[in-house]
Amino acid sequence: MQTKLLINGHFVAGEGEKLDILNPSTGEVIGQIAEATEAQVDIAVRAADAAFDSWSQTTPKDRAMLLLRLADRIEEHGEELARLESQNCGKPYAAALNDEIPAIADVFRFFAGASRCLHGSAAGEYLPGFTSMIRRDPVGVIASIAPWNYPLMMAAWKLGPALAAGNCVVLKPSEQTPLTALRLAEFIAELFPAGVVNMVFGRGPTVGSPLANHRLVRMVSLTGSVGTGKAIIRSAADSVKRLHMELGGKAPVIVFDDADLADVVAGIRTFGFYNAGQDCTAACRIYAGRKIYDNFVADLASAVSSLKTGLQDDPNTELGPLITASQRDRVSGFVERAKASPHIKIATGGGPVAGKGFFYQPTVVANALQDDEIVRNEVFGPVVSVTPFSDADEAIRWANDSEYGLASSVWTRDVGRASRVAARLQYGCTWVNTHFMLCSEMPHGGFKQSGYGKDLSMYGLEDYTVARHIMFKH
Ligand code: NAD
Repeated sequence: MQTKLLINGHFVAGEGEKLDILNPSTGEVIGQIAEATEAQVDIAVRAADAAFDSWSQTTPKDRAMLLLRLADRIEEHGEELARLESQNCGKPYAAALNDEIPAIADVFRFFAGASRCLHGSAAGEYLPGFTSMIRRDPVGVIASIAPWNYPLMMAAWKLGPALAAGNCVVLKPSEQTPLTALRLAEFIAELFPAGVVNMVFGRGPTVGSPLANHRLVRMVSLTGSVGTGKAIIRSAADSVKRLHMELGGKAPVIVFDDADLADVVAGIRTFGFYNAGQDCTAACRIYAGRKIYDNFVADLASAVSSLKTGLQDDPNTELGPLITASQRDRVSGFVERAKASPHIKIATGGGPVAGKGFFYQPTVVANALQDDEIVRNEVFGPVVSVTPFSDADEAIRWANDSEYGLASSVWTRDVGRASRVAARLQYGCTWVNTHFMLCSEMPHGGFKQSGYGKDLSMYGLEDYTVARHIMFKH
């Protein structure tokens, strides 16, 4: 297990407090890692700043070659990385290996190609006697701060576009799930010049905050909770840093009476509960047409109750644990408060799983009302709510009546209705008759309190650049 920080091309032990790293399936400590001190964060940022001048002048082709090699390394070590990820997050090994590793390698490959296709939108004579051109140049040192739900994937989403555009990075993985990022640091150290990528470890207040507030950091890229996003936005005002914020979600799922019910049920069984629902796009806030409501709830409860919770290495496991005991208790708190309302019916699940790990039963909370906490707040666990609606306007109004704006879906056989509803939803993404599907070419990101800035796609790459005007007098 690699437990050292990567600073200026060297692996050094953290000199701060030692933190336990757990396997959430068993609650057992699998290692200890020392946090970076503020002085070490400072050295890491200075190393990135020092590396920027030459790294930012490399050609896109050279940067692309390194990103392609990094993708190859990830694939070559796919089993090892999937094993580490699954131990540290409790997620099923097969899912980490077959779903995440290929997608992670693809992100680096996409941005390798994208770096060679980035172009300014115009060049020409816009004033007589002058020629203008537009350049897209890197921003400088990026502080990248990642969450615990998809640790290596989030590292890839941050490193891929930042490096492709010619920036230098100091990445801080989540204090709960640093293992795959720290292993990735070894591949990076073999391939990239010293200082281009630095990796520090530690908690938000002790390491994340000094990193995000460092004078030489030009942009902070966070994937995390709305609360953390707001704290970083507030403190970034002092130095007017650029921000890229991928915050929480509470995805509405509108199921019309004419939808293919079997398809919807199978879809929500997967997309509401993948990664034990610890997903910012999880299909968790369902609005179902009144005509199908009763049958839908019964079928969904039956399908969800068949989800198999278990240990990572059991090939039959579909659902792992929550990341920590406190996250499980938080999820439990939402469901207990919902249960206290007389109109709520727990159609399946509704409690923690006994044992040492942090498991929670896959749960369907039926008859929920728009103003219920379970409908309004992000649970980030294996819990979906279902609310009946009467017509499309009501469903759209309720769907949009949320502080979040990341992802949504519409389920219907009527293409015209799907198009009309999708056009009115205030979400960064709307899927039709599916949910949750991502690809490297398409932008992922929200609006409202889900944040701003895009991950993946050419838009993601542009976010890590500054548009510049260069003018020549003839
Ligand atoms: P979190 O906000 O607690 O932590 C995220 C990261 O921020 C961690 O690395 C943490 O150490 C760091 N951090 C915390 N306080 C900080 C501070 N003051 N300054 C700097 N860094 C700080 O989030 P989490 O619990 O790790 O992740 C779950 C959240 O992430 C959920 O709300 C989820 O919706 C969101 N998320 C969003 C997306 C998206 O694409 N929009 C993707 C995944 C997760």
